[in-house]
Amino acid sequence: MEKLKRTLKESGIKPTYQRIKILDFMRQNARNHPTVEMIYADLAKEIPTMSLTTVYNTLSTFIEKGLVCGVTITGTEVRYDFNTESHHHFLCKKCGQIKDVDVPCSLSAQKGNLIDGHKIEEIHGYFKGTCKDCL
Ligand SMILES: [Zn+2]
Ligand SMILES: [Zn+2]
Repeated sequence: MEKLKRTLKESGIKPTYQRIKILDFMRQNARNHPTVEMIYADLAKEIPTMSLTTVYNTLSTFIEKGLVCGVTITGTEVRYDFNTESHHHFLCKKCGQIKDVDVPCSLSAQKGNLIDGHKIEEIHGYFKGTCKDCL
């Protein structure tokens, strides 16, 4: 908890109890890429005063400050990711799970490099198919 509090302070975010709980949830569910509804549903059980708007606004602030990133792989919703390093995702069309996959980027597509004179700051890549649990 203290470490999360410090992380928020260092990012210029006032470490309120609810914000700490949301960041803690993201840390524990890093591999699940939850939606705002999933985060809310879980935290509201423990903190009845928490609202969906609070969760949504808090996540927007976290994205702005680089604490989490938004993954828009399904085209209909944002999934939140605690892992802010550039990495690729796999969406299972059967069960809807989003998994991190370890696929290296080609050398020309690295952070800080230029493509056609454009400077790369973020790299997003995703794959869709059937996950190993569903196969
Ligand atoms: Zn699946
Ligand atoms: Zn991820």
